[in-house]
Amino acid sequence: MTNHYNTIIIGTGHNGLVAAAYLAKQGKKVLVLERRSIIGGSVVTESFGENFTVDSVQTGGTLRPDIIKDLKLSLPTVTQKPDFISLQPDGNHLILNEESIKRFSEKDASRWGEFVRFMDKAASILDAAYATIMPRLPKNMSLRDGYGLLELGLELRLAGRKDMLNFIRALPMSAQELVEEYFESEVVRAAIASVAIHNSTLGPMSAGTGYTLIHNWLNRGGLALTPTPLPEGEGQRVKGIGEITNALANAVKSFGGEIRTEAEVKNIKIENQIAKGVVLANGEEISADVILSSADPKHTLLKLVGAQDLPPEFVWHTQSIKMRGAVAKIHLQTNGNHGIPEGTCVVAPSVKYLEKAYDSAKYGEISEKLYLEVTTSENTVSIHFQFAPYELKNSSWQVEGSKVEKLAIDTLAVYFPNLKSSIVNRKLITPKDLEETYGLTEGGINHGQLMLDQFLFMRPIPGWSNHKTPIDNLYLCGSGVHGGGGVSGVSGRNVVKVLK
Ligand SMILES: Cc1cc2nc3c(=O)[nH]c(=O)nc-3n(C[C@H](O)[C@H](O)[C@H](O)COP(=O)(O)OP(=O)(O)OC[C@H]3O[C@@H](n4cnc5c(N)ncnc54)[C@H](O)[C@@H]3O)c2cc1C
Repeated sequence: MTNHYNTIIIGTGHNGLVAAAYLAKQGKKVLVLERRSIIGGSVVTESFGENFTVDSVQTGGTLRPDIIKDLKLSLPTVTQKPDFISLQPDGNHLILNEESIKRFSEKDASRWGEFVRFMDKAASILDAAYATIMPRLPKNMSLRDGYGLLELGLELRLAGRKDMLNFIRALPMSAQELVEEYFESEVVRAAIASVAIHNSTLGPMSAGTGYTLIHNWLNRGGLALTPTPLPEGEGQRVKGIGEITNALANAVKSFGGEIRTEAEVKNIKIENQIAKGVVLANGEEISADVILSSADPKHTLLKLVGAQDLPPEFVWHTQSIKMRGAVAKIHLQTNGNHGIPEGTCVVAPSVKYLEKAYDSAKYGEISEKLYLEVTTSENTVSIHFQFAPYELKNSSWQVEGSKVEKLAIDTLAVYFPNLKSSIVNRKLITPKDLEETYGLTEGGINHGQLMLDQFLFMRPIPGWSNHKTPIDNLYLCGSGVHGGGGVSGVSGRNVVKVLK
């Protein structure tokens, strides 16, 4: 071995970089290893041709404010939340704010404020839970675990009994049930339900989409209530998601940490159940006292460690993690005449439509009537496509790729007739590409589906929710562990607390 580090971190996703920055700031000798030639994992802005630069996978989100503050990150921000727009074929689009909702239902408009208040509260309770290291149930709790839970309990108590009960009640509900309690307009209901199924291989009638609605609400920093500027330092979206990655990488380096690209870890070196270092794909060996992996738990544990070094029951649980990738991305470079408004636009005409889109995924088929979320940045249009299952029945992604592209463009062209003639270049990213290029096992964009049986002390697997693994000195810190899923940096920050 040529070099020795305090900590090696596998993967330069935002969680790996957050952990690296905190540890380097503590004075640790840190090395971050990335298999790709560019850093950022899913939080990446990349170019697919001249004047064709896009946020290639994840298009919105930011880090938690305390992480930005702790690491003194300087992020360019926009001070206004983008509109959330539900597209209507007659052009009478719904924007999720009181004034626009009024055009669909006076009654719904009068309830919007109350709904937003509940969702903001529920999101803050979930945030507190994500910030708490979960105990390794059903094992005995350590004093530290107990203290963390006590703190969480106090925060929940402060949230007020009524809100806490409503929060607990909402988690297992379906998004449909939840929106029906507040709203009568199908357009309003479906717009909100689309947020619940975004990134989930679930339909709005599935139990537990109450939870995913709250999760996505939290990570988006809420939805636009009124088009007023955001308070200073509060969940603003950055311009170009890659700015988050750049700011984090600069922080790592400024604290003395190192980052290496084109450095794929082939396996983790283990002696007597203790992680000792890593072996790269080029054969190079690097040793460390501690290894953190921000790659997904299936890849880390089944590929980089291997079943031979793990207890059989642990292997079985890890194999059983539900990844359920079913998202594709289509980026269009246009001449600028696409006609799509700025903001987050969704194709979500009714709750039943969204449920039927999900039905296809259940049977390994691509949705013919699809849920789309569309964002624009000057001449480029980025389309998030659901559902495009990783596992296709009776077909392959080589055959089906062009179908997804056509379906997305045809669907959007109903709303924006100039779109087709404005396209000059395109880039498709299938769930297979998410696996092969972005390192996401089975195209699982959150390193394991967010659902109630993979939540709290059951994430990534029951009994192992505190970042530890059966291999001493090997820890998980990516989206697949508690606190993770989406862009927030929480699991990267939490692991540092466990290492103390
Ligand atoms: C298409 C798509 C849309 C999304 N939309 C949203 C959204 O709207 N809202 C939201 O909140 N979240 C969204 N997400 C999810 C969110 O982006 C991810 O959960 C989050 O960015 C994951 O961050 P991470 O740091 O945990 O891991 P990743 O970003 O996955 O980073 C892991 C890194 O590890 C590297 N790596 C893997 N294996 C190795 C190895 N053997 N050696 C070296 N390096 C390795 C990978 O190349 C990668 O860079 C989306 C994700 C995708 C893919």
